[in-house]
Amino acid sequence: MIRLSITLLIHVLITATFLEVASKRETDPCWAYGTKIEGNSQWVQCNFCSFVSRGGITRHKHHLVGDTAQVAKCSRVQAEVKAFFKEDFDKKKQAKEAMNSIPHFDNVFDLDEEVDEDKLNT
Ligand SMILES: [Zn+2]
Repeated sequence: MIRLSITLLIHVLITATFLEVASKRETDPCWAYGTKIEGNSQWVQCNFCSFVSRGGITRHKHHLVGDTAQVAKCSRVQAEVKAFFKEDFDKKKQAKEAMNSIPHFDNVFDLDEEVDEDKLNT
């Protein structure tokens, strides 16, 4: 019974965290610098250079930060905007590492669109 309670507790914890991440995504500050394209929920047009990222708001953020070869770098992004989201990525990475210390947490994020970030970090 104790084991079951702990499992339940972890499940609730994970669900709460997951929902928080999901709701955060909708109000991502990055939307101030990108415009959703009608009919394509994963397509975001850059407000600085009109480049279209086809991997959602996270991909658009990578476009602004320019930290990966998988997305074209933004040529017109303001330095402070770039620095802001770079810091955001660093914080996220730290949070992810902390989450990974919980057993089986990875399973929850298998469905996450940001899975490819892992590849970038290796
Ligand atoms: Zn751009």
